[in-house]
Amino acid sequence: MKKLMLLFLFTLCVQTSLISQETISHINLKVQMLSDQVYVFEETERYRVNLVALTGSDGIILLDTGFKMYANDLVDTLKSLHFGSVKFIINSHIDRDHVETNYFFGTDITIIGYKNCDHFVKTGGTRSITFENNYAFEFNDLDVRCTAYPGGHTSCDIIVYVPKLKLAYLGDIYFSESFPRVDIESGSNAQVLLTHLKTIYSTLPNDTRLIPGHGRVTTMDEFKLYIDMIESTMKIIKAEMDKGKNLKEIQDADVLQGWNEWGTYFTMINKNSWINNVYSSYSGQ
Ligand SMILES: [Zn+2]
Repeated sequence: MKKLMLLFLFTLCVQTSLISQETISHINLKVQMLSDQVYVFEETERYRVNLVALTGSDGIILLDTGFKMYANDLVDTLKSLHFGSVKFIINSHIDRDHVETNYFFGTDITIIGYKNCDHFVKTGGTRSITFENNYAFEFNDLDVRCTAYPGGHTSCDIIVYVPKLKLAYLGDIYFSESFPRVDIESGSNAQVLLTHLKTIYSTLPNDTRLIPGHGRVTTMDEFKLYIDMIESTMKIIKAEMDKGKNLKEIQDADVLQGWNEWGTYFTMINKNSWINNVYSSYSGQ
């Protein structure tokens, strides 16, 4: 009953109000309405993944699908928006917290992802589209542009930019409230991540709103602060390496003590994990 009541309240809110920036608690998803075509769903536990629905009269484009423990909540919430069914899923990368619910939307969908993600993409829809550099399509009168930036977080990161909505979804190459995580095992590298972020910053218009894979929606100015943090902390760690310090010595010296707040959003991503990522990226170890 509580679940039904929450669903009813949320539905009522969406139907009677087009107020942007509205935040509503819904079961296990926090729903933020950025505009009448853009909804951000933040999972309330574990890694607090951001999922995005781009809506319109032709249906829904879903940017990432989240952990399967939230699958029913996501489907219920999407139904309550009254925009019809999900027609496209775009996966920002391959991590389980972003793709696990792909299979839940049946086979009458098209899943889009980077070429290195194709084995995951194909487990979902009957139609799949993978690309190497760029892929763009039109849906709901929106020009949806996907661009690949692999090798910074994982081996298959892409971002989605929608000019008409002044909106970009960056997946996990952007943690707006945390140090990054570089998947060293997949061959990814902090230097590649920094280069990609600078390219994205120089490419997107200044009034673009940015949705990270985890963390709050931000402006481009806040995105710049994130890039500056990464560049500054990498320089500090590299300087210690150049003095001949090993990983443990750098971690024990707490060289990133001025950046404490970036290490509190996740339990497993903190100053030491970031030092480890940067050390491995420079040393190849
Ligand atoms: Zn993630």
